[in-house]
Amino acid sequence: MSAILIDGKETAARIREEVKAKANELLERGIPVTLAVVMVGDNPASAVYVRNKQKACDEVGILSVTHHLEEATSEEALLKLVHDLNEDDNINGILVQLPLPEHINEKKILLAIDPDKDVDGFHPMNVGRLCTGEEGFVSCTPAGIIELLQRYEIATEGKECVIIGRSNIVGKPMIQLMLKENATVTVCHSKTKNLQEVCARADILIAALGKERFVKQDFVKEGAVVIDVGINRDENNKLCGDVDFETVKEKASYITPVPGGVGPMTIAMLLKNCCIAGERQHR
Ligand code: NAP
Repeated sequence: MSAILIDGKETAARIREEVKAKANELLERGIPVTLAVVMVGDNPASAVYVRNKQKACDEVGILSVTHHLEEATSEEALLKLVHDLNEDDNINGILVQLPLPEHINEKKILLAIDPDKDVDGFHPMNVGRLCTGEEGFVSCTPAGIIELLQRYEIATEGKECVIIGRSNIVGKPMIQLMLKENATVTVCHSKTKNLQEVCARADILIAALGKERFVKQDFVKEGAVVIDVGINRDENNKLCGDVDFETVKEKASYITPVPGGVGPMTIAMLLKNCCIAGERQHR
């Protein structure tokens, strides 16, 4: 049996269409949804991410205002900018592109963002809201995974879900989101014993560890749903996930490919969060 492919590219395109309609509806109500993107320095990868986000905003009718500051910008100056953006009623969402230069304390900056404009969902207040089930913003990649599961009508209630990875942006929020979906959740990390055995119990296996093709066929129960968050380059510089796709797809019931699975969902969810921010700030 070969698994059903979960098409993140197509799903993300559909979400962007929905966001476009929403942004237009908000514009007609006098709310031009606006995202402020802050980038410090000239990290080439960050520059690509920022450009992609601007382009994605343009395509769905969200305004984006980019503040590109020089590498030597002081922490104080960056805090002042974040503060000004917090106070600016024309700005609905604020995104500070990471990583920041070493002389700037990243945590301090993220903490300074108004939680109600924190469309990345990284602020501790939003992390707490997710844990206690209150309205907030959820980190975009895990939120995108939930959208994929829901849109493919994959049952989660009472299912054994195993997550590999416990990072603040993927693994940890994923735990809370799957609990909310009534799954029984196990989280694994680099110190987990018998990882393969634990993973083989999963009805839904979410791999977010950042190790190319780490999850082999014997990690996967027959018929399991396999979600691959990893973005890695193999020895031939080819993009690949944390899952050994070619063998695992023969055993799984559903699987996300890399590229074209979880990846495209992240920006789509960021755009969705911008509209949610705009709407909430005007109710
Ligand atoms: P990260 O911060 O490096 O965290 C990796 C996690 O995996 C850690 O909790 C680590 O355990 C665990 N881990 C590492 N090696 C392991 C092993 N051999 N066995 C079990 N657990 C292991 O990574 P991340 O930011 O969560 O990202 C994970 C992957 O997802 C990366 O490939 C990244 O590029 C990708 N990603 C994709 C998107 C997207 O848009 N699609 C977004 C974010 C990340 P410890 O905590 O014990 O160290």
